[in-house]
Amino acid sequence: MPPPRLISSTAAELLTFFGKCPQCRYSATATETVLRYDNDTVDTRIYLSCGQPCGWTTQVAPDHTGSYGFTAAGQPAP
Ligand SMILES: [Zn+2]
Repeated sequence: MPPPRLISSTAAELLTFFGKCPQCRYSATATETVLRYDNDTVDTRIYLSCGQPCGWTTQVAPDHTGSYGFTAAGQPAP
């Protein structure tokens, strides 16, 4: 079976993200990327990056964002 083909990808900044860069403590930004494949698979990825040019960036699973200060629902973690 051939691997699924990517048919579209959209990226949007998560304006409800309030996490901070673990390196310099400056506010970080989160970008949610949704990848759609031709086998009806939808892959959601969240990338976090520092708002300052310290170079920090990471990818988190949508259900593992709580450790960075917000939940999958986009609410600040308790
Ligand atoms: Zn930083």
